[in-house]
Amino acid sequence: MLKEDHVKSVADAITVEKKRILSIRKALVEWYLTDHRDLPWRRTSDPFQIWVSEVMLQQTQVATVRPYYRKFLERFPNLARLAVADLQDVLKVWEGMGYYARARNLHKAAAMVMAKHNGRLPQAWQDFRDLPGVGDYIAAAVLSIAFDKPYAVVDGNVKRVLSRLFEMDDPVNRPKSKSIYQQAANELLDERRPGTYNQAIMELGATICKPRRPTCAACPLQAACRAYRNDRVAEFPRRIKKQATPEHRIAVGVVFKNGRVLITRRKPEGLLGGLWEFPGGKIRPHESAEAACIREIKEEVNLTVRIDAHLSQVRHAYTHFKIRMEVFCCVYISGRVRLNGPVDHRWINLDQLQNYPLPKANHKFLSQLVEWNAKTKAN
Ligand code: SF4
Repeated sequence: MLKEDHVKSVADAITVEKKRILSIRKALVEWYLTDHRDLPWRRTSDPFQIWVSEVMLQQTQVATVRPYYRKFLERFPNLARLAVADLQDVLKVWEGMGYYARARNLHKAAAMVMAKHNGRLPQAWQDFRDLPGVGDYIAAAVLSIAFDKPYAVVDGNVKRVLSRLFEMDDPVNRPKSKSIYQQAANELLDERRPGTYNQAIMELGATICKPRRPTCAACPLQAACRAYRNDRVAEFPRRIKKQATPEHRIAVGVVFKNGRVLITRRKPEGLLGGLWEFPGGKIRPHESAEAACIREIKEEVNLTVRIDAHLSQVRHAYTHFKIRMEVFCCVYISGRVRLNGPVDHRWINLDQLQNYPLPKANHKFLSQLVEWNAKTKAN
């Protein structure tokens, strides 16, 4: 091919690609403007409220987030109120939604915005990104939706849509693929209306281009979608196989003393940080659940107890592991509480438990505990 011909064909290809990108943007935004779900956080332009919704939605489904979002904003309607709130109150409102680091970081970040940015959410990428808990996704989502800044979001929904649209072979769950999907998202971003565009592509992934059985017949991008055109939709997105999730066996004891029970508070950082729970821990190989319960209580709070009853077996899944928890009702025998691990403790009546934020796994046996206690008292 002559040099001029080659240049012309490359220029033609770029023109075709640009046209294609423009038509994808247009179709996506037009579809979103008429067909999007009416969600509470889409009715506000308040940056704080948008931020709260994005933090909640990052690891939780829309249906679960709705009541939490309402409750959270009733309790903490603005940044200033959140910044001065007690962390325990914040965790209590968050209780049951999981990933509590999100709540702790939001609380800490609110105080930083009050102190360093006069109570206004910073609009510069780096200033906002420097706040606790703000990663690339949250920064792009909040800055584009609240302030129309030209940053493209990349979450699981977006990666799935992009992978099908362009037949991208990079596994969506491989860390190295992140920059490749970010680059594709940046190129597709409609910089004239980034907030609307970002919401549109996420909405498409959530409602039409779903993980299983996408409804291509109703998709506004059908004409531009390579996977659809080549009948390869089921092949995307590509994933690398994950290892099986390990399961830990845990023993937990509800220690009764003079009608009260002992709860302890976890240290502020890490998994379930700042939440309250009943003492306990991992069952060692070849150890019985009962022996582990007695040993853990001795090690963690320095009390000697006797097991009265096996209350329940609870299963719960976290992101990287699962637990099978044996729960026992125990009677206090001797000792003064000395904490090794937890940072605080209380002896409380069972009806006071509702005042403390507890992990979801603990909530799974609370009604059985109340029932058991009522029966035991009656006998
Ligand atoms: S045509 Fe199907 S696979 Fe392609 S983007 Fe639309 S819903 Fe997804």
